[in-house]
Amino acid sequence: MKLKIAIQKSGRLQEDSLRLLKECGIDISNGGNKLKTTAANFPLEVYFLRDDDIPQYVEDSVADAGIVGENVVYEKKKDVEVVEQLGFGKCRLSIAIGRNEGYDKESLRGKRIATSYPVLLQQYLDANKINAEIHEISGSVEIAPGIGLAEAICDLVSSGSTLLTNGLKEVETILHSQAVLIKNRQATTEKDQLLQRLLFRIRAVKKAKNNKYILLNAPNDNLDKIIGLLPGMKSPTVLPLATSGWSSVHSVIDENDFWQIIEQLKEAGAQGILVVPIEKMII
Ligand code: ATP
Ligand code: MG
Repeated sequence: MKLKIAIQKSGRLQEDSLRLLKECGIDISNGGNKLKTTAANFPLEVYFLRDDDIPQYVEDSVADAGIVGENVVYEKKKDVEVVEQLGFGKCRLSIAIGRNEGYDKESLRGKRIATSYPVLLQQYLDANKINAEIHEISGSVEIAPGIGLAEAICDLVSSGSTLLTNGLKEVETILHSQAVLIKNRQATTEKDQLLQRLLFRIRAVKKAKNNKYILLNAPNDNLDKIIGLLPGMKSPTVLPLATSGWSSVHSVIDENDFWQIIEQLKEAGAQGILVVPIEKMII
């Protein structure tokens, strides 16, 4: 028996989805034009689909799990379980208007808003008691104001450069989104066990990405102070150096604390600081 997972066939999530599986030690060819492929060393079958279809296939048990943007999961309103945020495919669903127009929330009233996300937009308008007209279009939403189809748009944004080149500015963010792992709610125990094995690997990869392995040389006089700055997984490893009066200290630090801690370490006399990436982390 194999776990069937659906990922995007081509597009923004495809490469990162395949990379994640690879980092989990799962070998798959990207399939070329194939609809599905089988992993060599894990009981996994990968289906390549359009992202819009993935929630439906997972709800219907055609696939047991899928990797898709939260924006698509919530827009499609399918009955699937979001198991894990995956940290890539980050974007936001935002409302934008002409760059030179003034704005407050009230000014959306009565406007025509073009979008591919009518469900999420309607929810936002209802929650804010704004009466506006939604024009659903399936692509190139950003050109709608320019061709006179709408006064505003509601679309996915990451850097904002597409808005800029189309003379638009972002005025409201209605959803922050990233790629997530979703699963069928009626999965059998065996399928669920496979999914848990995959999830265990995904979490180890994610955790490793947020942490760095740090090695440094510390004068023994200041060892306690330096150790105090480095929590480590349990506590730092301390080894004597060949030069007396010095020790080598090894630990794991959070990527986010990284620069601040490094400065404090240098102040405390640490030398030869090395920071290296971690491939997998199981705690
Ligand atoms: P498909 O052919 O599979 O339907 P698509 O054209 O609908 O593809 P893509 O443009 O490849 O979809 O985007 C896939 C997902 O990538 C989006 O649903 C969203 O979750 C995420 N994403 C991240 N950044 C952006 C961005 N700047 N614009 C659009 N989507 C983004
Ligand atoms: Mg799509």
